[in-house]
Amino acid sequence: MSEQVRRVVIVGGGSAGWLAAGVIAADHQIPRVPGLEVTLVESPAVSPIGVGEGTWPSMRDTLRRIGVSETDFIRECDASFKQGSRFAGWSNGGGEHYYHPFSLPQGYGEADLVTPWLRDHAAAPYAELVSYQPQLCERGRAPKQVTTPEFAAVANYAYHLDAGKFGPFLQRHCTARLGVRHIVDHVARVESADNGDIAAIVTHAHGRIEGDLYIDCTGFSSLLLGQHYGVPLLSVQPQLFNDSALAVQVPYATADAPIASHTLSTARAAGWIWDIGLQTRRGVGYVYSGAHMSDDEAERTLRDYMANGAGADAAAALSPRKLSFRPGYRETLWHRNCVAVGLSAGFVEPLEASALALVEFSAAMISDQLPATRALMDVVAARFNDAFRYRWERAVEFLKLHYLLSKRCDSAYWSDHRAPASVPPRLAELLGVWQRQSPSRYDFYRIEEIFPSASYHYVLYGMGFRPQLPPVAERAENAALAQRAFAEVTTLGKSMLAALPTNRALLNHLQSYRLQRI
Ligand SMILES: Cc1cc2nc3c(=O)[nH]c(=O)nc-3n(C[C@H](O)[C@H](O)[C@H](O)COP(=O)(O)OP(=O)(O)OC[C@H]3O[C@@H](n4cnc5c(N)ncnc54)[C@H](O)[C@@H]3O)c2cc1C
Repeated sequence: MSEQVRRVVIVGGGSAGWLAAGVIAADHQIPRVPGLEVTLVESPAVSPIGVGEGTWPSMRDTLRRIGVSETDFIRECDASFKQGSRFAGWSNGGGEHYYHPFSLPQGYGEADLVTPWLRDHAAAPYAELVSYQPQLCERGRAPKQVTTPEFAAVANYAYHLDAGKFGPFLQRHCTARLGVRHIVDHVARVESADNGDIAAIVTHAHGRIEGDLYIDCTGFSSLLLGQHYGVPLLSVQPQLFNDSALAVQVPYATADAPIASHTLSTARAAGWIWDIGLQTRRGVGYVYSGAHMSDDEAERTLRDYMANGAGADAAAALSPRKLSFRPGYRETLWHRNCVAVGLSAGFVEPLEASALALVEFSAAMISDQLPATRALMDVVAARFNDAFRYRWERAVEFLKLHYLLSKRCDSAYWSDHRAPASVPPRLAELLGVWQRQSPSRYDFYRIEEIFPSASYHYVLYGMGFRPQLPPVAERAENAALAQRAFAEVTTLGKSMLAALPTNRALLNHLQSYRLQRI
């Protein structure tokens, strides 16, 4: 084991492994600058999980950071544009819905929008008063024009993508352009050094592969951190019950069917159904609690959902794929010379598509803070563990908020979600605070919060939470600032609706023409 950290060995070739490899190799200019090597080992016998289609706007930064072309990515990963999520039936199980768009509320940070909303526009849905983006989603608009350069936005956006195509796309880029060494082989065992570090991984055909830093991207098996080091998974099932999913790929009814530019998330008796529009198909799945519903009942629920949509006949013939998971995260994410990224670090239900975002944040921090020596690694590891424990805790609270505020009473699942014992104590405390003031940077004070206060506004008020704000707190100029922001939403919404193509039209265009590279 050398004192210098020169050899990064990534085990696992799913989205997590290739994103981590791409970020580190691109940042450290592996092919041009000697000194650092990045090797990715993936088993020919264990397939990547092949689900995970929703992303965050951070994915634009990550893809740009590793130097891929957005046009190539969209073409090769069957990707589409995503502007946020539409939550249907979450508040009371009727026909109601609300949006959590990616754009910040207009005037956010300059004006208190909540007091004037409740005083003067209480009948308007909060997100629709403060953001033009719900209108764009309702009308199937793309977030940019054909002339908008790669990765630039008119309205903030992320992607929906085909998970089965994303890893191979990144692999081609990482090996051809970024100098990542790729070994297809099964890791059979792990060898320890005297000090307890990992000295080498031992593969079937390539023998021992030595490294200075190991990144465990082996999915749910968590071969290095979970199995070798025995770092336990901290279960969050008492807060977030969902541990099962049924996933299916649904063809469009016609070749020119609209492509939604948001994830549709529809609440059901024991969970919720995701509906994601890619270019050539939809990805649909029911995430549910196995303790509250049998697999057969869940499949009937999913089939009922598909029977009501376009393409119902084709969907009836499909067989859903069952996935099981233990909601939780590792007590320690970086132990000795091994750090886990992706499913090996943890997983909670994909309600806000936070898993790939956590992969991106992990890869970025590992790369930015890559320790030069083994002695520095423990310092970096402690910082990493602090940052990511904090992020996992906040993610659990934010997801729980979606359930806690629901008034649904059609099943034990929903009432169990409101049981005080299932509510993280910090969230319960914050809900008390938010009766009197809106979520703010004082509640979420780190520079890189996983969910900023604006996201809490969208979900809290979308779910029907109505605070008792103190009536005298509004600053003198606030009402005028807020009214101006509301008027801007109307004006911007009209001009964007007139100028933006539909999601389908822009994606069709990109099959023949490229976005401009800057
Ligand atoms: C139902 C469901 C829905 C999801 N939806 C979303 C979503 O909308 N948005 C989102 O961000 N995320 C979502 N996720 C999470 C997302 O799928 C993962 O975060 C992402 O795919 C990364 O997976 P991974 O690379 O960590 O693991 P995997 O894809 O499982 O890859 C594991 C890799 O490890 C390798 N490996 C395993 N054992 C060995 C061994 N012994 N030797 C060598 N290699 C080995 C395998 O070959 C494979 O390459 C969802 C997950 C589930 C379960």
